Amino acid sequence: MQGLMQDWPLRVSTVIDHAARYHGEREVVTRTVEGPVERCTYRDVHGRARRCAAALAGLGVREGDVVATLAWNTHRHLEAWYGITGAGAVYHTLNPRLFPEQIAYIAGHAEDRWVLADTSFVPILEQLQDACPGIEGFVLLTDRQHMPATGLRNALCYEELLADADPDFAWIQGDEGAAAGLCYTSGTTGNPKGVLYSHRSNVLHSLACNGADALALTSRTVVMPVVPMFHANAWSIAFSAPMAGAKLVLPGPRLDGASVYELLDTERVSFTAAVPTVWLMLLQHLEESGSELPYLQRVVIGGSAVPRVMMETFEKRYGVEVLHAWGMTEMSPLGTVGVLKAGMDALGFDERIGIKLKQGRPIYSVEMKIVDDAGRELARDGEAFGHLLVRGPAVVSEYLKGEGGALLDDEGWFQTGDVATIDPEGFMQITDRSKDVIKSGGEWISSIELENIAVGHPGIAEAAVIGIAHPKWDERPLLVVVPVEGAAPSREDVLDFLRDRVARWWLPDDVVFVDEIPHTATGKIQKLTLREQFADYRLPTAR
Ligand code: ADP
Repeated sequence: MQGLMQDWPLRVSTVIDHAARYHGEREVVTRTVEGPVERCTYRDVHGRARRCAAALAGLGVREGDVVATLAWNTHRHLEAWYGITGAGAVYHTLNPRLFPEQIAYIAGHAEDRWVLADTSFVPILEQLQDACPGIEGFVLLTDRQHMPATGLRNALCYEELLADADPDFAWIQGDEGAAAGLCYTSGTTGNPKGVLYSHRSNVLHSLACNGADALALTSRTVVMPVVPMFHANAWSIAFSAPMAGAKLVLPGPRLDGASVYELLDTERVSFTAAVPTVWLMLLQHLEESGSELPYLQRVVIGGSAVPRVMMETFEKRYGVEVLHAWGMTEMSPLGTVGVLKAGMDALGFDERIGIKLKQGRPIYSVEMKIVDDAGRELARDGEAFGHLLVRGPAVVSEYLKGEGGALLDDEGWFQTGDVATIDPEGFMQITDRSKDVIKSGGEWISSIELENIAVGHPGIAEAAVIGIAHPKWDERPLLVVVPVEGAAPSREDVLDFLRDRVARWWLPDDVVFVDEIPHTATGKIQKLTLREQFADYRLPTAR
């Protein structure tokens, strides 16, 4: 027997409709690309998004077309997401931190028809426009006064387009399963691959993110997503904040410690989100300036693991609750959040921090398990570690144009490429990337755990561990170290430090010192490049 409830398509336009109708006066504050801080409301964003949709339709954009954005977090970028999807098209966030050739490849692969861009990215676009003949033109997200002189073809002014557009444009209606957004993974191996979100997956994911044990945004929250909208669907905040009616503070192009602090303070931000490197800059600024964080209540940190000192500093020194989150572009992106469960508040500080340093528990709608190399499920005992598999309505089923082939197994599980433990309470902890884990004599050694312990050495600024071929053990760990400026720890010194802290067979076979460890565009250690760099290296134990 079928249920007898209404068929109400979960389209993202319903989110901004709701915000405008019930939270119409709630502010959206932007540090603009032009410089000054500007204020508008959800009602304004809604009205301007409708004009944006009308303008795009006027430019010939039709249902299913892909329209790219290359922009910072601003109200105009937010309007663009709702305008593009409201016109029935697909927003495609281009990442300005990639190399121009990569951006050109991605724009071509996605078949972007128009690009809505901040003026700061005009030089990049001028460089790559010839490589992207499919792009019909560029809308610069600014007003006439700030329009740069540019060689871009069909360069239009966003504010002029909006001023001339139909304010009563009706959202294109359609199937909730239709594509709404597109974001490419940075692709540490092979070409970047497109993850194509649907209206339905975005709406369901934002509902799940707003769960009280997840991000829990409310109409009282003041949210500042420092995580860029071009990174992994902005961690859902472009949808969850309007859905809740939270005040939105958008930091524009300035993400340094002082600028981020200024907005946290003047706008009384209660909730913010970004990767660890952003918070490193903020904490440094706070220490140098002697400032406090009286308004900030919660900070979500993800993208890479939260270092213990960062968690302790936020919680103890500044009284800010840290939510450690894990996810990936392929998961819309949120998978887990480290919110404590009943009874855990009564634990001592160190014990609580120990739990919160894990990557957290699945939000509703994310299913998760760990398996061994043969695909057998492993125990949820917090000890066993294996390949982390996920499934759910906001998890990728295949990449755009079938790139990379079939992704799911017979039961619909997606291989995250992470290696993890899951404890009896459901807290997941990443111990490695599948391709980085070191397989020594049939057993696994976690490169991340070794790195985390190594950076505890006072003379080590950064550490990376890679597996090096070994005739007897298959692979053995090599520790690559960047010393702290002015320090010169010896190989023996570092190994002695580790010897007290890891199982004997985990001890790296050698330590090498370098000036720099290579990083990806999103700040992660580039193990592939590092492995290439040490391709000819022989371990002393293998000679
Ligand atoms: P990229 O940053 O490469 O563009 P994603 O943001 O999709 O792509 O990266 C997802 C990956 O980032 C995860 O599979 C995981 O390896 C890593 N990651 C994300 N959050 C965390 C976290 N809290 N701790 C450790 N690793 C994380």
